Amino acid sequence: METIHPDVETVLFSEEDIAEMVKRLGAQISEDYKGKDLVLIAVLRGAVVFMGDLMRAIDAPLAIDFMAVSSYGDGAKSSGIVRIIKDLDIDIKGRDVLIVEDILDSGLTLKYLMKNLSSRNPASLEVCTFLWKDVEGKQAAIDPKYVGTHCPDAFVVGYGLDFAERYRNLPYVGILKPEVYE
Ligand code: 5GP
Repeated sequence: METIHPDVETVLFSEEDIAEMVKRLGAQISEDYKGKDLVLIAVLRGAVVFMGDLMRAIDAPLAIDFMAVSSYGDGAKSSGIVRIIKDLDIDIKGRDVLIVEDILDSGLTLKYLMKNLSSRNPASLEVCTFLWKDVEGKQAAIDPKYVGTHCPDAFVVGYGLDFAERYRNLPYVGILKPEVYE
């Protein structure tokens, strides 16, 4: 039994659950991108943990790059405002781009990002999100090709996901106790 952080109410996905999801996604991506020119683009900072695991589960030549956008700030509510803080270093023209994201909620961040990246003429552009909050009555602005798992509409932390820059290093995903952010 792993020790649960005192600020975490419930563990949603354990280290073992996550390892299984990553393995499944890696195998699928390896198959789909056979003979392609794959570039993984992680959205900083939340997606770095997932990116690190996912890239090692992919058995195909690939390049990686990073982008940073502002979306949430330090709060638990989406602002809907997206701004590029760090752009790519590499040219994606004619390459097969897969955006690696930590969590898809409204999808506004990714919608903006995809529009921006598609203007650079990649050969293909898809999304792989670790978590998807696709709860009833909620429609995401984009449709991800790869999904680790669906997630309830609660504020979650761990495995790269933060609250005010904390909890990213938890090896599992959990729901934060409301008193921590209230
Ligand atoms: P969207 O634009 O899809 O509404 O928001 C996506 C971004 O919001 C994610 O990349 C992530 O940074 C943040 N986010 C959304 N839900 C959560 C959550 O439950 N926990 C954390 N830590 N971040 C979240």
